[in-house]
Amino acid sequence: MAESVIPTGTDGAEPPLDGRIAALRDEARSALSATRDADGLQEWRNRYVGRSGEVTLLLRSVGSLPADERAAFGQAANRLKNELQASFDERESEITSAAGPAGAIDVTLSGRHPIRGRLHPITQTVREITSAFGAMGFQTFEGPEVELERYNFTAMNIPADHPARDMFDTFWLDRVDEDGDRSILLRTHTSPMQARIMESQEPPIRVVIPGRCYRYEATDASHEWHFYQVEVLAVDEGITFADLKGTLYEFARQVFGPECKVRFRCDFFPFVEPGVEMAVNCFNCDGDPACRICRGSGWLEIMGAGMVHPEVLRRAGYDPGRYTGFAAGMGVERVAMLKHGIEDIRHFYANDMRFLSQF
Ligand SMILES: [Zn+2]
Repeated sequence: MAESVIPTGTDGAEPPLDGRIAALRDEARSALSATRDADGLQEWRNRYVGRSGEVTLLLRSVGSLPADERAAFGQAANRLKNELQASFDERESEITSAAGPAGAIDVTLSGRHPIRGRLHPITQTVREITSAFGAMGFQTFEGPEVELERYNFTAMNIPADHPARDMFDTFWLDRVDEDGDRSILLRTHTSPMQARIMESQEPPIRVVIPGRCYRYEATDASHEWHFYQVEVLAVDEGITFADLKGTLYEFARQVFGPECKVRFRCDFFPFVEPGVEMAVNCFNCDGDPACRICRGSGWLEIMGAGMVHPEVLRRAGYDPGRYTGFAAGMGVERVAMLKHGIEDIRHFYANDMRFLSQF
């Protein structure tokens, strides 16, 4: 085997050992500098330093040499192998860095963008609403989601036998008081905070109260069993219905744009008198019968409002002969759905990043 790779002289005599190593070194080096790519490098490695490469075979042939030559030849062949391996490594790194991105770091490539976190669309909408009222001097408050029945209903002029309680299918806590009545619930609206604020503060009051509410009802494209509301309350001497309209109109302009128009129509809520429902003009059409957002009416209802019912003021300890006020409440999901053209309220709470990352 050794004969096939170790050059032999024409006269059949072995050339000097140093000469054979030097010849192999020259040949391998020039072959290495001729390599141009990864395939050429692999070929070179197989031919010279691989398991059956010429240098490897040369080393193996040491055993067949006369004993007095083995040590010197073995050392020289080992030096050659190390030297060629180092040259190979060097050439390999030259070729791969010249080849560019396939094998090396290309510093001119733009980086990968990390996924950025962001606020939930409902949080964004809550902040937009509260800052629109904040610009008009309203302070933001929050209140308990687990509420006493007397704040959620009684203080809001909804006595136990009042038919309006049917409007609020309620999650009750499993607790019965001394009279055998259930008295703790998950609030069905943010309105109980009207009573809590009035109990703890003196007029003038200008507050906006965002928060989560709960109702025991079936879920569909426009109903969730939990949702956000924002409550608005202003109480002072001399507050009139004109203040209600002016404030809510300015709010609509802030949130839906300066061209926004509003419409007020009579509505009923037990805790206001008179009560109204406010709508904004449809952003999608001008009363087009085919519009699927406003269903052809040209208007989108966004909140209920009204002058605070004298009975609500009285229950909070205010003299309704001296103080008046207005209150409003809106569903945050509805505002967000109208602003962004979202068709199904359930998207907000499905935790689907494909939806959430659009905002
Ligand atoms: Zn429309």
